[in-house]
Amino acid sequence: MAEITVVGAGLSGLVAAINCVRAGHDVTVLEKNSKVGGEPVAHPGIDGTPMRPELLGKFIGVELKAPQVTPSDELCIFAYGRKFEFDPARNCLYSVERGARSSAIDNYLYEIAVEEGIKFEFGWELKSKADLSQLPPKTILASGLSETPFRILGIPYRNYDMFIDVKRHEGPNRTLAWFDKYATLYCYCGTVNGLAVALYIGTDDAIVEGGFEEWSTWHLPQQSGIEFTNFRPFNGVLGTKKFNTNSLFCGDKILAGSLAGANDAFFGFGVHPSLISGKIAALAVDDKARAGELFNDLVCRNKYFLALRKLSDASPHSVKKVLWRTVCSTFTLPAFEPLQGFLKPIVPGFSKLKKWQQVL
Ligand SMILES: Cc1cc2nc3c(=O)[nH]c(=O)nc-3n(C[C@H](O)[C@H](O)[C@H](O)COP(=O)(O)OP(=O)(O)OC[C@H]3O[C@@H](n4cnc5c(N)ncnc54)[C@H](O)[C@@H]3O)c2cc1C
Repeated sequence: MAEITVVGAGLSGLVAAINCVRAGHDVTVLEKNSKVGGEPVAHPGIDGTPMRPELLGKFIGVELKAPQVTPSDELCIFAYGRKFEFDPARNCLYSVERGARSSAIDNYLYEIAVEEGIKFEFGWELKSKADLSQLPPKTILASGLSETPFRILGIPYRNYDMFIDVKRHEGPNRTLAWFDKYATLYCYCGTVNGLAVALYIGTDDAIVEGGFEEWSTWHLPQQSGIEFTNFRPFNGVLGTKKFNTNSLFCGDKILAGSLAGANDAFFGFGVHPSLISGKIAALAVDDKARAGELFNDLVCRNKYFLALRKLSDASPHSVKKVLWRTVCSTFTLPAFEPLQGFLKPIVPGFSKLKKWQQVL
């Protein structure tokens, strides 16, 4: 039995801690905030993500179900002004509540962790190389989208500038996304568990002037039917700057979640891969080789996502408009269905992209 330290009480950190304690280790989680539930400015929140909760739950050893993980009733994408209605069930789309409420997955994992006897130290922040050097070997670093640990570890990253608002809202569980000239990445609105969240995501190197105002005052209220009036700026980073920066290890430490490069490099989806990555990080404590194999399976698709991201960033809106509308048509219009079969053998990595919906 070893004493294992985990830094970060988020998705990957809590799953890692739970799996380490079940493997017979003593576990302490160090968390920068005063309680579980992530950055207060961005939470509570709703993350929309494709996943298979039953398979994923079995893999990580934690049952995933409503209210923390709820199937989406409606998925709409607005691609350059045209509305596409997807079948959320077919795309395995789920809404995952984040934060400290009892209906949030962070709190749910925390309660399991406490029951399992894991110790927590709140208010401890990894701020410097000196802090890092004091952490024992095999410490699991799971600090999410926070910039400082990326910098300390020398992992290349890209800044994501966001505006986020959350309010009380009763209604069906909906997921709306916008791909348009007013955002370099995309905009999103989700509703579940009596909450509504709106999120605008741009990147530091390509903010669209007036784009946030256009979306938040015009497209968002028109198309969601919800008024959001309290947007706050929020900044996060992802290791999506360069190819091949995903890594399970950094020196004698183990990486998990966003810090390990688990998020997909195109949309930034991080819930599903971070949960998986937490389990892999726990395995790495006792079986480096097996954990390494699973980690490679997890991140093998990332080079395709990153290539797509770079291609999209470099393309003018006239090209992106055609691409987005074609992609949305392919997945929503029955007449386009044969195109999926045609694309599969000729587009490199298509089968790996499809693998996204599976656990590994
Ligand atoms: C606003 C927003 C919207 C998102 N929307 C989606 C979405 O719709 N779908 C999706 O799939 N993904 C989404 N993501 C991404 C997803 O939330 C993350 O990828 C996922 O939470 C990463 O899990 P993690 O375990 O790496 O880190 P987290 O779950 O973020 O946990 C990190 C923990 O570490 C703590 N911490 C941070 N820095 C330190 C430090 N220096 N020292 C100690 N503790 C520290 C934090 O307080 C937090 O508790 C979104 C992210 C944000 C910010």
